[in-house]
Amino acid sequence: MSQALDILRSRFGYPQFRFQQQQIIDALVAGRDALVLMPTGGGKSLCYQIPALIRDGVGIVISPLIALMQDQVDALAQNGIHAAFLNSTQSSQQQFNTRQQVLAGDIDLLYVAPERALTADFLQLLGECRIALFAIDEAHCVSQWGHDFRPDYQKLKQLHERFPGVPRIALTATADRRTLGEIEAQLQLQGAARFVHSFDRPNIFYRITQGDNGRQRMWEFIQENHGQDAGIVYCLSRKKVEETAKWLSDRGRHALPYHAGLDKDVRARHQRIFLQQEAVIIVATIAFGMGIDKPDVRFVAHLNLPKNIESYYQETGRGGRDGDPANAWMAYGLQDIINLRQMMAQSDADEQFKRVLHHKMEAMLGFCEQSGCRRQTLLEYFDEILPEPCGNCDNCVEPPQTWDATEAARMALSCVFRTGQRFGVNYVIDVLIGNARERIIQNGHDQLSTFGIGDLDNNEWRSLFRQLIALGYLFADIDNYGALKMNSSCKPLLNGSQKLHLRQFVKQGKAKKPRNDKIKVSLQAADTPLFDALRLHRSELAQQQAVPPYVILHDKTLHAICELRPETTAQLAEIPGIGARKLELYGDDLIRITQQHSVTTSQQEESPGNH
Ligand code: ADP
Ligand code: ZN
Repeated sequence: MSQALDILRSRFGYPQFRFQQQQIIDALVAGRDALVLMPTGGGKSLCYQIPALIRDGVGIVISPLIALMQDQVDALAQNGIHAAFLNSTQSSQQQFNTRQQVLAGDIDLLYVAPERALTADFLQLLGECRIALFAIDEAHCVSQWGHDFRPDYQKLKQLHERFPGVPRIALTATADRRTLGEIEAQLQLQGAARFVHSFDRPNIFYRITQGDNGRQRMWEFIQENHGQDAGIVYCLSRKKVEETAKWLSDRGRHALPYHAGLDKDVRARHQRIFLQQEAVIIVATIAFGMGIDKPDVRFVAHLNLPKNIESYYQETGRGGRDGDPANAWMAYGLQDIINLRQMMAQSDADEQFKRVLHHKMEAMLGFCEQSGCRRQTLLEYFDEILPEPCGNCDNCVEPPQTWDATEAARMALSCVFRTGQRFGVNYVIDVLIGNARERIIQNGHDQLSTFGIGDLDNNEWRSLFRQLIALGYLFADIDNYGALKMNSSCKPLLNGSQKLHLRQFVKQGKAKKPRNDKIKVSLQAADTPLFDALRLHRSELAQQQAVPPYVILHDKTLHAICELRPETTAQLAEIPGIGARKLELYGDDLIRITQQHSVTTSQQEESPGNH
């Protein structure tokens, strides 16, 4: 067995390498540089942690987020690995002690922020010790076009100039081809071995629902699938964040708001609670997320349309980092589209930038309204081809019904036209339905041929208008109180030379409950008293040690215990996520708890009527 595999099994408790981990590790151990693109949750950390253990000296990890260093070091300590960090949250005494440990060769991995890595002080420390490797995490921060740009990242090549013999590994989860090239150039990694992995997150189930009353539908979705899980709910405005958090709390969930308008301490507290306690829902604006490494976020819900596919993918990507099934769920309606377009139009960016934003928003809308496989479209957006539909998204599982909407669309467009393109969507729908409101009578619109035409109801008209707007036939003129206006693309529809097929409106009552079979499987295991008992025990351990529960053991590991019910230490050692150190620390208790509950379960199974 290779030394790397031995460490993976004995220290980390995992049976096999994933993806290209082995090749990446081999490259570094052999002294080569590596450039790694792997999706979130793919397992990037092991790619430098294991070589740092194998190679002589200390592995230096450049990480942009001070807040995460503690977690990473704690998690390594759980596996009996000596790691430390140097950052501004420490006292000078603590920093001194860490430096001494590094100099004495007692530390295998040292985490620092890029700003510190380049100080004379730190460079001097490096000069006095053996360096196993440099790992540059979140390497896309080097790109000045990206949204996470950190100027100090561009200076990191100095490390290489100073210590040319030390192998380097740059890692990221979010880089297109151009950004990869930039990383290579900026960090002088031209000779590095490239390991580019698919962007796909196969364990995430994508579902996008249309129509009004998104909050209520989200509640049903959470109830059905995530009664005891942690999740993130994204809203566009601070006000909606506050309201939604309160609304969920009123219904008995532990839900906390997070947005840039909250006091810094409050935000930090809410984030900590989310990380350290079980089953917390954080309701947030996009201010929340960067660096949230919590592996067991089981759902990410959007109550508004994200601005573009990149944001959507990054935000949904915070679910299921541990590889277990997770849900990405979204609700949006007609008003969302109007609002988003409005925001875009009002932005004071220059024209060219606006065009880019606009284009990205259109891609997002197209993605929402399409009837094909979500994952294929997402990956295609990132230049990747998925040959077959995925089978793990809403459109794959329940292919949307479409209908020939040509006639109805013509009625709708002609009603917009006949009312002079001066009214908003609610007014136009009232005319179509034949709602003889006072204002409509005053305007004489009850006399129009389109008054009370067709047999769609209010919701069906709204669904039709949403799609007409999303597809660009109509737009809501914000300088004119949202009056609907026609685009030139309407012509072929109106003169009958084009047909239009649209998604069928799904009636609320008839809507299939959002159900994810893969989620169900894992919940069955989770649903046992044993799982609850293990979780409780884990909580106690976490509290004693002041670390988040997932640092002690992952959900995945608890699930495996429920499924395999180990009776001996040897059997427990086979469970993924339990290495030698955790076996020694927690093994006896885990076996004891499992035994206690195995008795109860077999009794339950014997009683009839139980399933
Ligand atoms: P990334 O940094 O790529 O987002 P991490 O390095 O945090 O991902 O790894 C995600 C999770 O996958 C972690 O819990 C990690 O322990 C686990 N993991 C990594 N490699 C393996 C493996 N070979 N087998 C099982 N689990 C793994
Ligand atoms: Zn699909």
